[in-house]
Amino acid sequence: MAPMKILMVAAEYAGLVKTGGLADAVAGLTGALAGAGHDVRVLVPAYAPIGPETAHELGPIGDCRLLEHRNAAGGPRIYRLDAPGLDTGSVYTGDDRDAVRFARLAGAACALGDVLGWRADVFHCHDWHAALAPAMRPPAPTMLTVHNLGYQGVFPASALAGVGDVRAAPEADGNVHFLRTGLRAADRVTTVSPTYAREIRTPEFGMGLDAVLRDRGDDPLGILNGVDYQTWEPSTDPLIDAPYGAEDPSGKATARASLRGDLLPGFDRNAPLVGLVSRLVHQKGVDLLIDALPELLARTRAGFAVLGSGDAVLERALEGLADAHPGRVAFRNGYDEPLAHRIFAGADLFVVPSRYEPCGLTQMYALRYGTIPVVRRTGGLADTVLHFDPASGRGNGSVFEHADPQGLIWALERAIEWFDDAAAWPRLVRNAMRADFSWARQVGAYEEAYRRLIRP
Ligand code: ADP
Repeated sequence: MAPMKILMVAAEYAGLVKTGGLADAVAGLTGALAGAGHDVRVLVPAYAPIGPETAHELGPIGDCRLLEHRNAAGGPRIYRLDAPGLDTGSVYTGDDRDAVRFARLAGAACALGDVLGWRADVFHCHDWHAALAPAMRPPAPTMLTVHNLGYQGVFPASALAGVGDVRAAPEADGNVHFLRTGLRAADRVTTVSPTYAREIRTPEFGMGLDAVLRDRGDDPLGILNGVDYQTWEPSTDPLIDAPYGAEDPSGKATARASLRGDLLPGFDRNAPLVGLVSRLVHQKGVDLLIDALPELLARTRAGFAVLGSGDAVLERALEGLADAHPGRVAFRNGYDEPLAHRIFAGADLFVVPSRYEPCGLTQMYALRYGTIPVVRRTGGLADTVLHFDPASGRGNGSVFEHADPQGLIWALERAIEWFDDAAAWPRLVRNAMRADFSWARQVGAYEEAYRRLIRP
């Protein structure tokens, strides 16, 4: 396929700025496209002052500064937009400054070609943060990818009063709707798994945008996110205690022992350890685990290692459970990349009890580390985890249907039965580790979709 020029516009990019899976997905796709020979460039905001050691200035775009990140040789070219008065240090402020930051990002994306003397063939915009670009007369066809319909970018029109050329009219409620505007204006809308693509066309999952999505005919196209196995691969991961792989999983025992020693000293070394690494928000169903825990602790031998931050009510509940059961429940409140890797490697089971999940990456990471995912059947979780059947030996995890504590307890008890079954468990772990969700498998679907946009 002839090389294409692709501009990625996003709020996050793994290695540079990350709060969740968006960063991993944008960086992973960019890397895969670059690896396939395309000229992919990335525009993200600068959230804090950037010094000359990490970036050099290319010139002004309006009253913003365009900087080029000093990337490793051979990596994609990454541009950062420094907008005046917005070096807040935090990625999202949760107030009107977000509206200004991302309206400017969209505007800069459209003007970038003139500054660089480089014309993209296609603009690939991610989530509400980049969703105004398709409505701002970009010089190329646009794809808008929905990574999470729960975040829509709705602001009072007054929030954008000081921002020049924004083509997003306030709607009947007086607000500017970034995502809705983009969903109407983009030439192509995609999302990050086939099941989520079907779900969000229904009122139950559409978050008020299902009608807009249904109006788009065949869209949204669902393309499953890939995994960057350069980062998430236990045989080469420098952040875990011992390397291991599907052919020789023995290093996992070291990783297990080390994690237990740190988080749950004294915990029964033969009992299953259940991990969870997540933003602590309603979407992720962490409250289901909190509600299920007392019963799980009484009925099983399992221990729990939880890493996350977010909703203060959920943080307090997890702290309370860890205080009440110090030998069985560990909670680390915060964002900790090395500990996340150690939990993927050192746990036996990994729970993702999401109410909805556009794709979900952690269950795919867990699979690679031979840590069996226990998930709710929704969105990308339904597309990646198949309930294990010990009789046939097929399947790679434990799947429950309904978002309630009893569903989660059922699925965890099934997984613990398999853990205790000397014949079933190695088979299940092997199935998990052999699953291949690499970007190399997904990139062709994006190439095909871009090609259709460029030459309809
Ligand atoms: P979402 O994007 O909705 O948060 P995903 O499963 O797509 O969910 O991606 C979450 C990403 O963020 C994963 O890479 C996960 O390891 C990481 N992550 C989430 N919470 C934490 C945390 N507290 N510390 C370290 N990494 C985290």
